[in-house]
Amino acid sequence: MGILGRSCRRYRGGCELVAWLAWVGGLVGAAGQTRGDEANGRRGAETAHATNFMVISHHASWQAARVAKECERLRSTLYRQWCVPGEEIIPDWTPRAMIVVHRSEGDYLREVGWRAGLTRGVCRVQVRDGQVVSRRIDLMADPDTGELTALAHELTHAILADCFPSRRLPRWADEGIALWADQPRKKGLHRQAVHRAIERQSAPAIADTLLRTDYPAGDKLPVFCGQSLMLVEFLVQLDEPSRVVEFTRVAVDHGYDRAAQQVYGLNGIADLQQRWLAHVRQSATRPVPIDYMRDPLQMPTPRKRT
Ligand SMILES: [Zn+2]
Repeated sequence: MGILGRSCRRYRGGCELVAWLAWVGGLVGAAGQTRGDEANGRRGAETAHATNFMVISHHASWQAARVAKECERLRSTLYRQWCVPGEEIIPDWTPRAMIVVHRSEGDYLREVGWRAGLTRGVCRVQVRDGQVVSRRIDLMADPDTGELTALAHELTHAILADCFPSRRLPRWADEGIALWADQPRKKGLHRQAVHRAIERQSAPAIADTLLRTDYPAGDKLPVFCGQSLMLVEFLVQLDEPSRVVEFTRVAVDHGYDRAAQQVYGLNGIADLQQRWLAHVRQSATRPVPIDYMRDPLQMPTPRKRT
C-alpha cells in the first residue's frame, strides 16, 4: 500500500480492509478442517517447489504441494488474461515467488505488520533497474472458512508488477485488476459502495480516481476500490482484458485522453466518464450471470467495439 524506497514496491491489498468480514468463497481448505490455532495445531513448516513458486506452509490444512499447484494454475490463467494474451510464451519467474501460508493471524501479522490487520494476504515485490528481483506473498487462512481467500488477488499484484517492471502501474489499475480476481460477494460489496456514493452524489469524478497515486483514507477507500473494480469491468466489456494494461501503458506515457481514444476509440476522459456511469447504473439492476459468480476468474464476453 506504499512505496518502500525506489527499488521496492509493496502492495498491501488495501481494499482487503473494506470487505473481508462478509467475504466467503475462494480456495476451500480440506473439508471440515482449519478453524484457527487450536484445530491447526503446532507442526513444522512444509516446503514445496514448483516451476515458479516456492511454497512454505505452516498450516496443517494447507499442504505446500497443493498450494504450489494451485499457484501455478492461477498464475497461468491470470497471465493470459492480463499480460500475455494468445499463444505467446509466459515467462518463468526467476527467482521463484515465495508463498508463505501462516499458521495463525498472530504469525501473519508479526510478518507483515499490524497495519495489515483485517487483510488475508500481502504481496511484496522488489524491483531493481527495471527487473523484478523478488516476489513474496504472505497468506493467512480465513479464520471462519479456512480458505486462502486472498491468493488470487495478491498473485494478480505480483503478475502486474511483471507487466510494468520499469514503471509504476496506476493505483486504480493495480487494485481494480486485483479485485477482479476476488470472490463475487466481496466484489458486490465494493459495487454497493459505488452505487451508494453515486446516489448521495459524493462519488469522485473518474478522472480523479484515475490520477490517484495512493489509497484514500476512511470511507473514501471503499468507493475508490469499487470505482477501480467497476472501471476494469467496464473496460473488459469493451475489449479483451489485456487491453486494460495497454490502456494504462498509453496513459502513463501520453495521458488518459489519448489512451481512451487510442485503445478504446472513446472521445477522451469525458466520454469514458459518461459511458462508465451508464455502465454503473445498468449494473445496479442487471443480475450477475450464474457462471461468472461460480468462477471469479471467468471473463464475460467482451462487447464488440462500436
Ligand atoms: Zn490489492
